[in-house]
Amino acid sequence: MSERDLRQGIIDNCRAMNASGLNQGTSGNISVRHGDRMLITPSAIPYAEMTPDMIVSMPIDGEASKWEGSKKPSVEWPFHRDILKARPEIGAVVHTHSTFATILAIARKPIPACHYMIAAFGGHDVRVCEYARYGTQELSNNVLSALEGRSACLMANHGMIATGASLDKAMWAAIELETLAKQYYHSLLIGGPVILPQDEIAGVLKGFANYGLQDGAKKEVG
Ligand code: 13P
Ligand code: ZN
Repeated sequence: MSERDLRQGIIDNCRAMNASGLNQGTSGNISVRHGDRMLITPSAIPYAEMTPDMIVSMPIDGEASKWEGSKKPSVEWPFHRDILKARPEIGAVVHTHSTFATILAIARKPIPACHYMIAAFGGHDVRVCEYARYGTQELSNNVLSALEGRSACLMANHGMIATGASLDKAMWAAIELETLAKQYYHSLLIGGPVILPQDEIAGVLKGFANYGLQDGAKKEVG
């Protein structure tokens, strides 16, 4: 895909993310791998006003200060850059403040194996990373730990991160994660979920390897 198409794709997905209720206002941000660089949304720009030239290009492995663009990069460039650097199988990162994922993150409740779809994120749970202030290297370090063997995580008192091999897959993962968070939240209100055993999730993971849902996350239960 051309860089121009990737830039437009980021903007289209930002708008879709807000239109669908998965995010609101200027919260959230999206990045996509493009060769050895990262294309990332600018900071604090309403998605309706965003144009392709505002998408920032930053080296994944080099000096972050060498970013190029007409606007400043998202304040969350450290975790976007660090995820793309540490996880070569990941091609796109979506960060949202979606309501149910954020409610669980505020309550510091990881999502257990309350539904077999948990396996779409690489294992038997989706973790909550430890709290650190937005935009910090500490937050990025915490996010990377929570993403070990997983393709998504919740972020304490903040929101969620979903990843995928492509932007389409990362967006799909973000919608699935918010759906799972909503289901888990509601199950807690009616007496709590029945949790699936780890060997069942291991079996689901094997099935997903053929079904096409596994995107770079570990194929065993960890
Ligand atoms: P940016 O507008 O800088 O991307 O920040 C939004 C956000 O969600 C911070 O965590
Ligand atoms: Zn945020």
